[in-house]
Amino acid sequence: MAVTTPKSAPPESQLGSYRAAVVHKFHKPLTVEEVPARPLEPGQIRVQVEASGLCHTDIHAANGDWPVKPEPPFVPGHEGVGKVVEVGPGVADVALGDRVAMPWLGYACGTCDHCVSGWETLCLEQKNMGYSIDGGFGEYATAYGRYVVKVPDGIDPLDAAPLTCAGVTTYKAVKVAGTRSSDLVAVFGVGGLGHLAIQYAAIAGGRVVAVDLIDEKLELARKLGAEFTINATERDPVEAIQSLGGADQAIALAVSPKAFEQAYGTLRRGGKLVFVALPADNYVTLPIFETVLQGITIVGSIVGTRTDLREVFELHGAGKTHVIREVRPLDTVNDSIADVEAGRVAARIVFQP
Ligand code: NAD
Ligand code: ZN
Ligand code: ZN
Repeated sequence: MAVTTPKSAPPESQLGSYRAAVVHKFHKPLTVEEVPARPLEPGQIRVQVEASGLCHTDIHAANGDWPVKPEPPFVPGHEGVGKVVEVGPGVADVALGDRVAMPWLGYACGTCDHCVSGWETLCLEQKNMGYSIDGGFGEYATAYGRYVVKVPDGIDPLDAAPLTCAGVTTYKAVKVAGTRSSDLVAVFGVGGLGHLAIQYAAIAGGRVVAVDLIDEKLELARKLGAEFTINATERDPVEAIQSLGGADQAIALAVSPKAFEQAYGTLRRGGKLVFVALPADNYVTLPIFETVLQGITIVGSIVGTRTDLREVFELHGAGKTHVIREVRPLDTVNDSIADVEAGRVAARIVFQP
């Protein structure tokens, strides 16, 4: 691994502290407060945040929902986008003034089997923005120069933010699903992730059936290219999708194990179920017999690589995707979390610090 030494020493950080939204205790409101700016370590950069999306993962993080928990106090946010204002020793990948995205995969070793085979998202040494590294819910964030992705000129940072997780994750999930032209793709959950999943499945040539519990979300799904929509509070999505011939692929993005089980039930023989959402309730009940006899594949999909994110930006720059987002000040973080949990958000909230 080539590490280059900068010709002149990087400027000492003038920044003493900055405002950020901090989780001090799981299940308690975040506090927006001054936090100290730490000196940069080798390979790190400081980014002045312009936009930062609120992913449902940030809510899981703030609640300590998962088997592997973050350690409070920490700053959530893994859809941070901003300009590089300081570079640490040994940073060769980005320069001052570059606009970069700081995704969930904040750091990986770069040398393990996973890293070198194009699966850096499986690296055991990985660090995650907004989880084990303070994230984008602040005026500034510290990231690793090698693991940020440059945002191409012409892409609005307010669009780039949701693309940095919701976009790359669903783009990858559609790749993992293997969607090809004329496949029927069931997208469960039309939230931040789902509204982009519909578009990537359609770009891959799939015919999309979107499932949610809220009519407004299904209306949006139709605008974004879903051919069929099902409100699961009114109709059984399994019956409805089987009557269409069954889904070739189902992508589970709803924060509910029941939706995973329904998504499984919508598959046709030889179909594939992609697990993406990460509900606090960690278990589903699925039948062995039917899985074997019907040749069903079940696969997990975790975010995407830097290459996937570059492709996501390329598609957006070419006008192929639409990001539906609502801009709010960071001070609304607790109300915003409540709105996402209650389904009162069209798709994504993006904070401006
Ligand atoms: P969101 O809250 O924006 O969207 C969830 C959507 O699911 C909402 O529209 C909601 O109305 C709908 N929904 C809820 N219950 C449903 C049900 N039973 N049937 C159908 N629809 C239902 O959340 P998001 O930001 O899109 O994230 C979704 C999940 O994906 C979260 O658990 C998040 O942690 C996870 N996630 C996983 C990855 C990954 O790499 N695997 C990456 C990002 C997020
Ligand atoms: Zn996310
Ligand atoms: Zn690795």
